[in-house]
Amino acid sequence: MRQILADIADFFLPRTCHICGCHLRDAEEVFCVRCIETLPRSLYHLMPLNPMERRFAGIVPFVRATGHFIYSRNSELAAAIHDMKYRQFPSVGRRLGEIVGEELNMSGFFDGADCISAVPMHWWKEVRRGYNQTDHIASGLSNASGLPVVEVLEATRSHKTQTAMTLQQRQANLSGSFRIKDPTKIEGKGLVIVDDVCTTGATLRTLASEIARTVPTTRLYLLSIAVTV
Ligand SMILES: [Zn+2]
Repeated sequence: MRQILADIADFFLPRTCHICGCHLRDAEEVFCVRCIETLPRSLYHLMPLNPMERRFAGIVPFVRATGHFIYSRNSELAAAIHDMKYRQFPSVGRRLGEIVGEELNMSGFFDGADCISAVPMHWWKEVRRGYNQTDHIASGLSNASGLPVVEVLEATRSHKTQTAMTLQQRQANLSGSFRIKDPTKIEGKGLVIVDDVCTTGATLRTLASEIARTVPTTRLYLLSIAVTV
């Protein structure tokens, strides 16, 4: 019965791949298998001291860091991420989180990790947008890895958009903008912090410094869905 209803819904509202627009098969969600296969992987998680880890080494303490896909302007991935952030497609974030989570989980990247937290968004920005895309990424990551999402991080103020800023300007812009709501939830735990795109690394760096200062027993795994090179 459920399958018949799904078929009827699909007839009137066909499910299509968010990238190529092809008709999705039953087991496919948001993206078709072929588009998922062609997304550009960094494979950083397979490298010792990978380029993402080099961005943070000696600056903030962490166990592992990676950016899973290579981000380039005008790419299909960039368009999907733009839709996820600005065009009311949080399901894209959830699916990307699942894909990244499945691939990292198989490689042992999460070994020693206990929980996941999304990079927080200031409440006013979330009200205006209607959702925080990184919450959806974290939820997909949780589905794939089995690690629970914990609500511990908070953005205490809204900051200016950072697109055109240098690393130093971004850090000054972000200074003091995050707070750890409940340190007891992450004391002595392995915490995965997930962001959507890592460009200069300023957001993850600021959050990691705040956690290291407030809860130094937390072991950090820094992860972004996409990373610029
Ligand atoms: Zn496709």
